[in-house]
Formats: sequence, C-alpha cells, structure tokens
Amino acid sequence: MDNTLTETDKSPWTFSLSVKAGVLALQGAVEEHLDAFDLAFRMVGVEGSTVEVRTASQLDSVDLLAMPGGESTTISRLIDKNSLRAPLRRRWNDGMPMLGTCAGAIMLAKEGDGQVTKTGTRLLGFLDARIDRNAFGRQRESFERTLAIDGYDEPFPGIFIRAPAIVRVWGACKPMAMLDGAIVMVRQGNVLATAFHPELSGDARIHAEVVRMAVKSVVCGDMKRNAKQPGHRPASKGIKGR
Ligand code: GLN
Repeated sequence: MDNTLTETDKSPWTFSLSVKAGVLALQGAVEEHLDAFDLAFRMVGVEGSTVEVRTASQLDSVDLLAMPGGESTTISRLIDKNSLRAPLRRRWNDGMPMLGTCAGAIMLAKEGDGQVTKTGTRLLGFLDARIDRNAFGRQRESFERTLAIDGYDEPFPGIFIRAPAIVRVWGACKPMAMLDGAIVMVRQGNVLATAFHPELSGDARIHAEVVRMAVKSVVCGDMKRNAKQPGHRPASKGIKGR
C-alpha cells in the first residue's frame, strides 16, 4: 500500500508560520530594532520578516510592533500627523504584541510627569503605569548596567540613554526589572516596555519574547477561526497553508 500523503490528505493543521514584525518608523532608532528582530526570528526558530511602519495600512499588515527610542514629544506629534493614534489603539485592543523602548515606553504609559504635560505629549495609555522622563538625571545621560529580569536565566545588558523610569504601576502591569529602586521594565498582557535599549545590546532575548507572543497570537487567532468554521484551511496573514 502506498502511504504517501497527497496535498488533500494532509491535515489542515499542517502549516508554516511566518511572523511579520513592524517597527514604528516616525523618528528614532528604527534600524537597530529591525536587526534585533532578524536575530530574534533565528533564536525562536521561526520564519519572519520586518517592515517599517508609517501608515495605518502598514500597521494593519504586521503581527507585532516595536516603538523605538527617540524623543517622545516628537513621536506623539507624528503619531497624530500620520493618523496612527486610533489604529494603534485598535491593534492594541485586539491583543497585538507590542514592545516600547525608552521614548516608546513613555508613549505606552498611561501617566507621565510634568514634562509630558508641559510639552503637550499625548501618551497612548496602554500600560497601567506612571513614567518619569529623563529620570536618571542629566549627569547620567547614558550608562550601561547589568539587569536581572524576571524569568530570564542570565542577566541582561541594560543600555540607558536619557532614560525614563517607571515610578508607579497598578492594575495588571507587572514590574520585570529594577535599577536603583526604579522600575525599568514592565509587562502588561502582550505589551512589554523597557526604559533601556535592548536593540542596542546585541542581545535579542526581549525581542524574541515579543516574537513568541506573536507566534502564540497568530496560531491561537487562527485556531479560533478554525473552531468556528470546521474544514476551513488557514490562509490568513502570517499563516500559509501548505
Ligand atoms: N528622554 C527621551 C524622551 O523623553 C527618551 C530618550 C530615548 O528614547 N533614548 O522622550
């Protein structure tokens, strides 16, 4: 008997998965995040591609989004100029994994300090957290410190550049790393934020964590659709039927 499976005999659950990582490219350190995701795809062992995000349709096409460091007041203005505020909120509501680093972390918080108010910076408010801009002071513009991150076996090289600090969390927002009494990394659901710059460290473990979240939501999202529609073969964004 010939046991070779034909295309139609194969289980509909057999699929190859490809993650598309977006980096918000309005201002700031974009390139380094794209490289970190390429490294992260290899670490996780998943196919992936990266894209710079400047428009709502680009945002719609990605499975995860990184918001880079830079200058939060400028990023906030450009989000409005490019009509990205509502689309960002929609993707966040749908559970898309997000990573905010430095200025990106400031943007993700619900509350900021006096500087945020004074400059009219409009935060996205996806994290139950209060953040203090330039919290480590001018004399410490940039520095490197080794961090212990919750759930990570090995210490992480934390690169801080005019870094903010998270001064208060509530609700479901959980601190993941501390430095000198300040919270420097948090997670709330599928949103991760770091006061430091993992994209500059050559260590892609944090990016890999976001890629894993995306793999999970791409797979589970599709499974839900399959459960509702028996016999449906996955062909959606990010999943190619084989
Ligand atoms: N201090 C900057 C701000 O307030 C953030 C610095 C950074 O992203 N490296 O937006």
